[in-house]
Amino acid sequence: MGWLQVTVIEDSTEIRQFLSSSLRKLKYEVHGVSRGGEGLSHVASRAPDVVLLDLGLPDMDGLDVLKMLRTMSTVPVLVTTARDDDTNIVRALDLGADDYVVKPFSAEHLDARIRAVLRRSGERLEDTSYRIGELEIHPASHTVLHRGERLEIRPKEFRLLAYLAKHAGRVVGKNELIAEVWDNAYGTSGKTVDVHLSWLRRRLGETAAEPRYLHSVRGVGVKLSEPAS
Ligand code: CA
Repeated sequence: MGWLQVTVIEDSTEIRQFLSSSLRKLKYEVHGVSRGGEGLSHVASRAPDVVLLDLGLPDMDGLDVLKMLRTMSTVPVLVTTARDDDTNIVRALDLGADDYVVKPFSAEHLDARIRAVLRRSGERLEDTSYRIGELEIHPASHTVLHRGERLEIRPKEFRLLAYLAKHAGRVVGKNELIAEVWDNAYGTSGKTVDVHLSWLRRRLGETAAEPRYLHSVRGVGVKLSEPAS
């Protein structure tokens, strides 16, 4: 899996800094905010891969943050909580949290829980794998194989590739990609799509001028198809 983007909503500076530095070492891209409102707008604009939500926040009740988050996103949410907080844990799970971790926890423990949650949400979304030429895309495990070799791929690139694979052979418009892959996140444009496509091309060892899998159709969109030879 490439670098996963994690939004940490946590008012304790100490815990935020600990999570930022330790999760970065485990190859996560961490963005920490101290307030619920800030967390919500960050999730809306950046569409992270996973959210860590502290239930005790100064500006809003963590459960209210979760409730609002669920009206706009299906992103996996791990709730972090103090001990002896069974009532809130049960309520958080009822409100759509995917899992919880009790403080204090190690970064390794958190890493394992994040991966378990992502695996489950991946299975919920897709259990079909795609094979296009020598490219294999496995949504449940978030892996891409090219000629049998695993590609290092970032989550957003993965979603883009998986969506194109699902619709292989058809030209998919950029607006459709912005809606389906970026969930219409604020600030996403055709340029964002182009940048991710060029990263994908690099990983697949091809260029826009000499495409093999990814074929851009000017003014229309992009098509994923099996190379001609
Ligand atoms: Ca707190």
